[in-house]
Amino acid sequence: MRNIDKRFDKVDVLKDVTFSVNAGEVHALLGVNGAGKSTLMKILAGDYIKDGGTIEIDGKNISIDSPSDAKRHGIGIVVQEVDTALFPTLSVAENLIIDDFNSGFKLSRLSWRAIRKQAETILSEMNISLDVNKPVAECSLSEKQMILIARAMAGNVRYLILDEPTAPLSENETETLFSLIERLREKGVGIIYISHRMPEIKTISDRFTVLRDGKLITTEETKDATIGQIIRQMLGKSLQNVKRQPKPISSNTLFEVKKLHVPDTGKEISLKVHEGEIVGIAGLVGAGKSETAKALFGAGGATGSWFLNGEERKIASPYDALKQGLCLVPEERRKEGIVTGHSVAHNLSLPSLKSFTKFGWLRLKKEKGFTKDKIAQLGIVTPSEESLLKNLSGGNQQKVAIGKWISPERNVFLFDEPTKGIDVNAKKEIFQLIDSLAGQGKGILYFTSETEELLLIADRILVIYDGEITASFTGTGAIRENIMQAATGGKISETNSSS
Ligand code: ADP
Ligand code: MG
Repeated sequence: MRNIDKRFDKVDVLKDVTFSVNAGEVHALLGVNGAGKSTLMKILAGDYIKDGGTIEIDGKNISIDSPSDAKRHGIGIVVQEVDTALFPTLSVAENLIIDDFNSGFKLSRLSWRAIRKQAETILSEMNISLDVNKPVAECSLSEKQMILIARAMAGNVRYLILDEPTAPLSENETETLFSLIERLREKGVGIIYISHRMPEIKTISDRFTVLRDGKLITTEETKDATIGQIIRQMLGKSLQNVKRQPKPISSNTLFEVKKLHVPDTGKEISLKVHEGEIVGIAGLVGAGKSETAKALFGAGGATGSWFLNGEERKIASPYDALKQGLCLVPEERRKEGIVTGHSVAHNLSLPSLKSFTKFGWLRLKKEKGFTKDKIAQLGIVTPSEESLLKNLSGGNQQKVAIGKWISPERNVFLFDEPTKGIDVNAKKEIFQLIDSLAGQGKGILYFTSETEELLLIADRILVIYDGEITASFTGTGAIRENIMQAATGGKISETNSSS
C-alpha cells in the first residue's frame, strides 16, 4: 500500500501511509485508538475506498473497490467486530461455506450433507476441532474467530488481516490462535496483525509499523525495538502529567479487599480505596476489568475478604454488596444497569424500590418527588420524568444509570467504562458527578481502557493486565507512557512507580 490517503467527512484519517507485508511474514500494525489501523486495513479488504495512493501485489498495481475484489486478490480479513461478519442463526458449517452473502450464494443448491462435509474438511485441514452442526450463536468468541479465519483460509488467502484478535481471548485461546498463525506463516501466508498487547507483538511479529494520527511513524524489525521504544512511537512526545490538582487524600481506608479471587479471570487481586479517593483502574479491552469489577461487587461466586472502614464484612453476592453500601455501574448499561423501555422516573427509583414500597405497594407519589429531585440534581435532560429512557441521549441514559444508585447510604462506587459511547459534554458532566461524590467522602473505583480519562480524574491509577494488578501510579509517575507500558504488558523498570 503506497501513499494511502483517506478522509471521512473532510477529516484526514490517513495521510500518505505506506505499508507492506511479505509472504510468510507477521507484520504488526500498531497505534493508539483512533490512529487509523482499522481504516487502513478496511481499505485493503475493500470495505472502504481510498482517496489516494496505490495498492500493489507482486509489484503489479491492482484496484480494490469492493470486498470481492480483495478476496479475488487473496486478501482476507477477520474484523474486530466478529459478530458482524457471521450469521448467528446458521450453523458453523453454513457460516463456513457462505463466502459472500452479497454474491447471491444460495445454500439451497447444496445438500446439507455436502455443506457439512466441505466444512469438516476445511476445519480439519486447519486442525481446528469444532462441531460444524452447532449454531454460531452458541459459539464462544474464540470459536467465532476461528470460523472467520477458517473461512478466509478456505478462500485460499495469501494475505490475512487480523484486527485485534486476542482482545477477547483467554490465554489458552490465544495460544490456539498463535499456533494457527504459525501454521499459516509456514504456508507462506502474509499476516497483518493488529494488537495492543506488547509481549504478543514481541513474540509473534517479524516487523512492526506504527501509525499515529493517521500518519506513518516507523516500520522496523521487531527484534531491534524494546517495548518502551515502541510505545513512545505510538504516543509521540506527549508527557502529560495528571492534570487535576493533586488533592490531599484522607488516610482513612474506606474500602479494602484482600485476596479477592475473580472467578472469570482465575486471578487474585487486593486493593484499597481511601475516603474521597478516586482510584482509576486502567487496562486494555479484555484485561479483565469488568470481570474484576463484578467480583468486587460480590458477583459470580467471587471469594475473598472485604473490609469497610476497617471492619470485615461478609459479601457473598451483589445483594450483600448493596446492603453494605457498594454500588456497581456496569459497562453494559443497556443490558444490566437500566431498563430503556421504562420511564426515567421508574429507572431512577429501581434500586431504592424497597423504600418506596409499603406492604408490597409502590407508593407512586413518593417516587415522583424523589425522582424530580434527582433529575435536577444530576442535570438529566428529559422532557419529563415519565419519558421513556430509550428516548434520551446516551449521556443522559448514563446519568440515569449512575444517578439511580446515588443515595446517602452508598459509600463505594464502582464505575465500569462509564463514558463509553457518550459525547464530550456528557463526559464532562459525568466527571463532575464523580468528583462531587468523591468530595462527599465516597470512595470511587473507575475502570476504563481510556487512559486519558484516568489522567483527568483519578488520584491514583492501578493497571490490570491479564486479570492482575501489575502497576500503581500516583503524582509524577502517572504519565500516559508509563500507564500504557504497564497496560500493554511491558515491565516498568525505568520509571518511578509507587504504592
Ligand atoms: P484504530 O483502528 O487505529 O483505532 P480507526 O481506523 O478505527 O483507528 O479510526 C481512525 C479515525 O477514523 C478515528 O478518528 C475514527 O473516528 C475515524 N473513522 C473510522 N471509521 C470511520 C467512519 N466510517 N466514518 C467516520 N470516521 C471514521
Ligand atoms: Mg481499530
